[in-house]
Amino acid sequence: IYRKYISERRKMKDKISIVVPCFNEEEVLPLFFRTVQEKVASRAFFEVEYIFVNDGSTDSTIEVLRELRQKNENVHYVSFSRNFGKEAALYAGLKEAEGNYVAVMDADLQDPPEMLLEMYQILISKDYDCVGSRRVTRKGEPVIRSFFAKMFYRVMAKISDVEIVDGARDFRLMTRPMVDAIISMAEKDRFSKGIFGWVGFDIKWLEYENIDRVAGHTKWSFKKLLKYALGGIEDFSSVPLKINLFFTALAFVSTLGLGTWMIVYAILGKYIPLLLSISSVISLFSMFIFIGLAVISAYIKKIYKESKGRPIYIIKEKK
Ligand code: UDP
Ligand code: MG
Repeated sequence: IYRKYISERRKMKDKISIVVPCFNEEEVLPLFFRTVQEKVASRAFFEVEYIFVNDGSTDSTIEVLRELRQKNENVHYVSFSRNFGKEAALYAGLKEAEGNYVAVMDADLQDPPEMLLEMYQILISKDYDCVGSRRVTRKGEPVIRSFFAKMFYRVMAKISDVEIVDGARDFRLMTRPMVDAIISMAEKDRFSKGIFGWVGFDIKWLEYENIDRVAGHTKWSFKKLLKYALGGIEDFSSVPLKINLFFTALAFVSTLGLGTWMIVYAILGKYIPLLLSISSVISLFSMFIFIGLAVISAYIKKIYKESKGRPIYIIKEKK
């Protein structure tokens, strides 16, 4: 009976899948693995499974992964045919993960692994579905970059309906329902910061100070970050489409102004300057064009929403 009890317990043991996107991380991977094994896997009362995603690295990342796999059964990896970007790597990792809890973690040890234990404690003892991490300082980051990052979060909060927390990192531990919800987001062009917020669920934030990468270097140039931010806005807001409404209003006001001006001249029986009449006609027709564009935008917004194929609702609990 006791043995049966033990095996039952073992079956019930929680399993945490750690998803790690890797792009040219040969330098840090062995250290990453050793550290997580030491600080988490060996100390925890849950099982740990690693899902490394080799995102088309050009260094020997794949060899390091093969070696780790040989030494440890809990190591799994997926290797892409080329570099598809961190978002694709994350998605692949989440799909492969089998644990009832899933963690997302960078390979560079900027995310303190020991925090996983705390995250797990919170998830099993409190009514949260996800424990995320956010850095409260941007120490060691160029000032301009911090400024633009702040701007981005502020703009995003205004124009989109998802909440994106300033300083939130991808480093987080989630329950299975939340992971399934994220996978059910069918969009191909993925912006995880938005998706994590869009699916809802209760998130607890742990704060910590920024930590520098232990080795290797960041893959983010300023240009790449800017593109990423603009892409995020495109994915989670249709507000920019409204610009046509604004221009319509502008053209309307100017047409009205110029028109009144012409009528006044006509009433006074004065000669109407050629420039004035030409401007009024241009203004009037611009207004027509912008009305047309605004109508088209309204339909594009519908297409945009439909084409994302997002779930209509996400269930958290059902009995
Ligand atoms: N990464 C990836 N594909 C890419 C770029 C980055 O899988 O095209 C991985 C990278 O190996 C690391 C994580 O994403 O594990 C975060 O990258 P990085 O540390 O360069 O970003 P930062 O921490 O500076 O935001
Ligand atoms: Mg990093």
